Amino acid sequence: MLNTVSKLGLQDFFHKVARAPQSALVLDYDGTLSHFRLNRTEAFPYSGVTPLLQEIMATGRTRVVLITGRRADELIPLLAISPHPEIWGIHGLERLHNDGLHEIEPIDQRTLDALSAADDWIDNLKLQHLAEHKPGSLAVHWRDLPEDAARDVRGRVLLGWLSIADRACLNIEEFDGGVEMRMAIRNKGDAMQTILAEMDVAAPVAYLGDDQSDEDAFRVLDGRGLCVLVRPQWRETAANLWLRPPAQLLAFLRTWLEACLQKPSGSVRESWTTDRDAGLRHEQGKHA
Ligand SMILES: [Mg+2]
Repeated sequence: MLNTVSKLGLQDFFHKVARAPQSALVLDYDGTLSHFRLNRTEAFPYSGVTPLLQEIMATGRTRVVLITGRRADELIPLLAISPHPEIWGIHGLERLHNDGLHEIEPIDQRTLDALSAADDWIDNLKLQHLAEHKPGSLAVHWRDLPEDAARDVRGRVLLGWLSIADRACLNIEEFDGGVEMRMAIRNKGDAMQTILAEMDVAAPVAYLGDDQSDEDAFRVLDGRGLCVLVRPQWRETAANLWLRPPAQLLAFLRTWLEACLQKPSGSVRESWTTDRDAGLRHEQGKHA
């Protein structure tokens, strides 16, 4: 199955965005709003994303929220939106409010000891150049390695990590191009749950993401909002709509902005159906 949201269903969703006093647009960052980059500090959003998000925020009618696996403050210079939107970092372990207030879950000693042991393992493998250290989490990235080398790195990392994680009750989660050991107490679905609880029950909500960790948020939002897989290739997912970045993503954001700019009784122009290169796909049952 490709898209379970019909064209009419999507049109209805944007009509709700146009009518509702408040809505929420919740977004993953890497792979969703940006290309992946070997140097993570250079993973800027696709051209056009930042001004669209800024304009959507400026309407005052949509709460824009980022939920990322990175540390929250890493996204501020990349997004270049001032004031920055609300950002949940480390898969929901930390929350950076748009007024600058920062909250983070406390990290217990057993977790710290396990992450230290996992880091020693990476040291011994001489793979520190692939590591990403975050509070309550350690990730290894092999996206830019050749396939054989990536498989080798994965095998050697997991050989040591599995028992360390098991002893400390930490999660090991694979993502596109890497693996991460982290505290099991929060995931993107928990962050989504909190965001929903803070919204009016009738408020339209969408979540856009590309990776396995985004599936937790899709499952929480399922039946309540729009779940959008943003990815060049389709894969099995709990999302009900698939967009190919960047063209279809930009069309989606443009349509969202137009909805926010509508008067409550106005109609929403369907820019995605008029943009030749940015059409949403509705080919039921047809994979790319
Ligand atoms: Mg991602």
